[in-house]
Amino acid sequence: MRVTILEKSDLAARLIIEGISPPLANTLRRISLSEVPVMAIDDIVIYENSSVLHDEILALRLGLIPLKTDLDSYNLPEKCTCKSELGCSLCRVVLTLNVEAKGGVRTVYSGDLVSENPNIVPVSDKIPIVKLAPGQRIMLEAYAKLGRGKDHAKWQPVSACNYRYKPIVNIDYARCDGCGKCADICPKRVFAKEGDKIVVVREMDCILCTDCVRVCGIKPPPIQISWDDSTFIFYIESTGSLPVDRIIFEALKIYEEKFTEFMELLKGLRE
Ligand SMILES: [Zn+2]
Repeated sequence: MRVTILEKSDLAARLIIEGISPPLANTLRRISLSEVPVMAIDDIVIYENSSVLHDEILALRLGLIPLKTDLDSYNLPEKCTCKSELGCSLCRVVLTLNVEAKGGVRTVYSGDLVSENPNIVPVSDKIPIVKLAPGQRIMLEAYAKLGRGKDHAKWQPVSACNYRYKPIVNIDYARCDGCGKCADICPKRVFAKEGDKIVVVREMDCILCTDCVRVCGIKPPPIQISWDDSTFIFYIESTGSLPVDRIIFEALKIYEEKFTEFMELLKGLRE
């Protein structure tokens, strides 16, 4: 396996992974989506809610706010020794919301949540939760816990995680007349016209739509679009809960754990 980083920031990464099979690429995608734990609000104690939103809708909106996650300091609730319904300081973070619209209409934002741990806060202060009319008030306590995307989408660490085969674009210059129709129709601007010649300038951007092949006037078309099914362009985008490299690292760790467990089970069968 060989990995080349095409672009990377804290929130997103585009990689080329060579020498793996489609099932392995899909395993990494699925583990990143549904098994890497992150923090999200789970239990909420509502003391007062005179807003127009029902308690359940308010709770759902709070749950979907991505929270910055510290994987090293907190236990998964099922692995914590406290076994308490609302958790302990090792497996949950309490956030409080106490807002009232006094002067006029007020929008309540994620930034109004006050966390007991300054490291576990919403990734953005600007996520609107509800609008309050004058006199309306919300007072609640929210308990954030680690969880997994397979149990609820609010625990998904990625907002996008996908891969595609590396495209291969070939032009048979002996037969191409350089008309440029392919360059005009390509939605990803893969081709460029240089003088009388069509050149492939952005092969990686090709989305295999084959519009270029269909528009070509020569039969059979001198453009050939194919793909390499052992090389993937992997794109992963974090919700902001965890840095993107940590998500990939955790996904690989979980994969290894699953595999070890599987081997142990197999050994047990043989004995
Ligand atoms: Zn606990």
